Amino acid sequence: MARIYNFSAGPSMLPEAVLLQAQREMLDWQGSGMSVMEMSHRGKHFMAIAEQMKADLIELLAVPAGYQVLFLQGGATAQFAMIPQNILNGKTKACYVNTGAWSTAAIKEAGKYCEVQIAASAEAASFTTIPAYADWQIDSGAAYLHYTSNETIHGVEFNDVPQVGELPLVCDMSSNILSRPVDVSRYGIIYAGTQKNMGPSGVTVVIVRDDLVGLETKNTPAVFSYAQQAKADSMLNTPATYNWYLLGLTLQWLKGEGGVGAIEQRNIRKAGKLYDAIDNSSLYRNPVDKAYRSRMNVPFVLSDPALDKEFLALAERNGLSTLAGHRSVGGMRASIYNAMPEAGVDALIAFMAEFERTH
Ligand code: PLP
Repeated sequence: MARIYNFSAGPSMLPEAVLLQAQREMLDWQGSGMSVMEMSHRGKHFMAIAEQMKADLIELLAVPAGYQVLFLQGGATAQFAMIPQNILNGKTKACYVNTGAWSTAAIKEAGKYCEVQIAASAEAASFTTIPAYADWQIDSGAAYLHYTSNETIHGVEFNDVPQVGELPLVCDMSSNILSRPVDVSRYGIIYAGTQKNMGPSGVTVVIVRDDLVGLETKNTPAVFSYAQQAKADSMLNTPATYNWYLLGLTLQWLKGEGGVGAIEQRNIRKAGKLYDAIDNSSLYRNPVDKAYRSRMNVPFVLSDPALDKEFLALAERNGLSTLAGHRSVGGMRASIYNAMPEAGVDALIAFMAEFERTH
């Protein structure tokens, strides 16, 4: 059976090598006589898998000493609530930057726990840009500043770490983690669901600086406490063992590809050629400010929306799948995470050119 190019925003394509290795090891993981799915999370086999996975993530992201690296459940959505529960530390306010649908979701959830100050918002610009740092309104009495480094739906990405003064910086990196090098030491918390660049869904990576661990409110549920999860090595309850294993295989693959620096070069090439194709056409258009265009999620609209349905149907028939934009914004979106081969982007570009020629 031929595999398609799947442009889904997540869960999304996994490297074929990861899927094949999982298949090979399905019934008998490395002579253990069992599937990883069947292993006790406290047994020696799974402990070895977990330790390697964590070490690989620390290596790939160059996480410095002084951080806890946690593997939790509940997705990035659970972090929207866990962050205020864990680090408000008696303060009543947090600052949030609103650059799109995912920031908006984080803001809504945080509002249940504290006053949210919108430090900056691109809503008036329909989330097609990032407000200049100089205009951000930051309250130094707030507990932290939260932003979303890549807006998966709107296709807007930060190219650097915001300069924000002294507040702990908290970042939702769900859709661009491991796609480019990042200076972890600049952050209080980095969190990301695994289902885009790190494996299938079911695990949330949370990297939290030690001084932000142990500040949770008294009634924080145990599984939502960074301190308790850190103490239990993210095994306060039974972890999503098979997903940890697949995350580990994906990290091994990334190391084999040359790591984050090497994948960044490929991501720059992939996104660059797709944006060029869009910009050089008269049928397609990307609405995002060129300085902040996402390398991971490339939204585009057709100048005649009446062609949308046909575009999608024909693309599907050509093995180019899940190109519809998010239902909230419409149009198209090509998500081209680490595991999308460059050949997949080339195939999409060729298809788009042919569609334009014939329509
Ligand atoms: N944040 C961003 C940037 C996302 O792209 C997503 C999901 O696509 C989420 C948060 C929510 O993640 P989850 O569904 O894993 O909770």
